[in-house]
Amino acid sequence: MKTNPFKNSYVDLGRDFYQSIKPTPVHNPQLIIYNRELADELGLDETPLNASADVSVFAGNEVPEGAGPIAMAYSGHQFGHFNPQLGDGRAILLGQMESPGGRSFDIHMKGTGQTAFSRNGDGRAALGPVLREYLVSEAMARLGVPTTRALAAVTTGEEVIRERLLPGGIITRIAASFVRIGTFEYFLARGDKAGLTRLADYMIEQYYADLKQAENRYLALLDAIIEGQAALIAQWMQLGFIHGVMNTDNMSIACETIDYGPCAFMDHYAHDRVYSSIDHDGRYAYNNQPNIGLWNLSRFAECLLPLIDEDQNTAVEMAKDQLERYINAYQEHWLTGMCAKLGLATVLDEDKALVENLFTIMASNNADFTLTFYRLSMLDLDASNDDVMLDLFDDVDDVGSFTQWLDQWRQRLSLEASENDERKAMMRAVNPVYIPRNHLIEAAIRAAEDHADFSVFHALHEVLQHPYDFQPGKEAYMQPPLPHEVVQQTFCGT
Ligand code: AMP
Ligand code: MG
Repeated sequence: MKTNPFKNSYVDLGRDFYQSIKPTPVHNPQLIIYNRELADELGLDETPLNASADVSVFAGNEVPEGAGPIAMAYSGHQFGHFNPQLGDGRAILLGQMESPGGRSFDIHMKGTGQTAFSRNGDGRAALGPVLREYLVSEAMARLGVPTTRALAAVTTGEEVIRERLLPGGIITRIAASFVRIGTFEYFLARGDKAGLTRLADYMIEQYYADLKQAENRYLALLDAIIEGQAALIAQWMQLGFIHGVMNTDNMSIACETIDYGPCAFMDHYAHDRVYSSIDHDGRYAYNNQPNIGLWNLSRFAECLLPLIDEDQNTAVEMAKDQLERYINAYQEHWLTGMCAKLGLATVLDEDKALVENLFTIMASNNADFTLTFYRLSMLDLDASNDDVMLDLFDDVDDVGSFTQWLDQWRQRLSLEASENDERKAMMRAVNPVYIPRNHLIEAAIRAAEDHADFSVFHALHEVLQHPYDFQPGKEAYMQPPLPHEVVQQTFCGT
């Protein structure tokens, strides 16, 4: 065992950044799952978070030696409205460690009891959202999307009061960092330039060390986050993922997907799809995510203005120039990724229209997002097996426009250097067979919550470990929901 694997570097930033607080113990915790592969990757074997650690560690009943648990302070814009006082109201940062490759990571536990930031909340998490976060975040990792990882999940043996009594759960999750845009906003709102500087320097030191050489390191930090968020949101769009609560407090400065709440993957394609029960105006609808990315980055830029230049007009001009780059950066990531989904290794200007036309046809035919791309990746150049596509489209009369689209696509493919098989393999590598479909997650949660049966959860988790590989016998997991299985709304579970 390493003497003390915890770095607790966030604590060094000062008392304004956090509240020191231990998790509140729970009565009868049981381990649901522990992520051995992640533990290996992070080198946890020699630490108190290893595979044989007692469940009391992952329930917060025992704080490992060397850990300095804290609740982090942050603010945030929720649905466009500034809330100065958010913070970890039901989570604690156990500390930082370093992976064998020297990468720093944060260990966070959600559902661990009240903190100074709980406001009226009970500080707890229901089991359902814990299982949802575990499944979706691990699936995202396997799909190749930057994300928090799930290390362990437990049931608490206690009930939480929501719309009804529900079993409680705690998830231990790992991120490069849990610093959010909202963390910067917290110090901006207090006019605390010294705090902002310390926070920015901390992020640069820990996670963006290359930027130390930059002429203006804070402008370079803005640039890096713009690039990271543009790339991240483009990946969400390419998979039909809807985060659901893109409030600035849920947007990571490490540019990973964080704070899985009412998130969902689309089944049939609709550009303005919303699942979250609290997103009444569709602010965080599928097709609005790139715009909201820019809105959130603008809030981040405002936080950095005092650091970018002494003269605020100069700082504003510099930040504006950077923010304008976001649109191009996003478009480039989106189009390159979408082209890869269509088997195009090169990107031409007219490809945007090709992609958009496909989405238009998918929308008017209720075509399943994931299956459309997966089955496209099975088509041959000679059109001999186009039939596999057609049952995805509702309106047989409209199939004409889809077959026209296929002609255009094949013409475009003829400009590519790749052979048929090579192109299909390339498409399979980016078009998943399996995604964590809402109705499958719902079934896993129902079995766990209603019958303490975790087998449905484990079986689904297993399939999602290899989302790009067709798994014989697992065809049911590929299918869109039957009419009675459709999940129309998802909930935060707070
Ligand atoms: P979230 O919707 O999970 O991103 O949370 C938004 C804010 O509400 C954060 O400050 C959370 O810590 C806080 N919060 C959410 N649920 C609870 C709860 N059950 N108890 C205390 N605070 C909560
Ligand atoms: Mg949050």
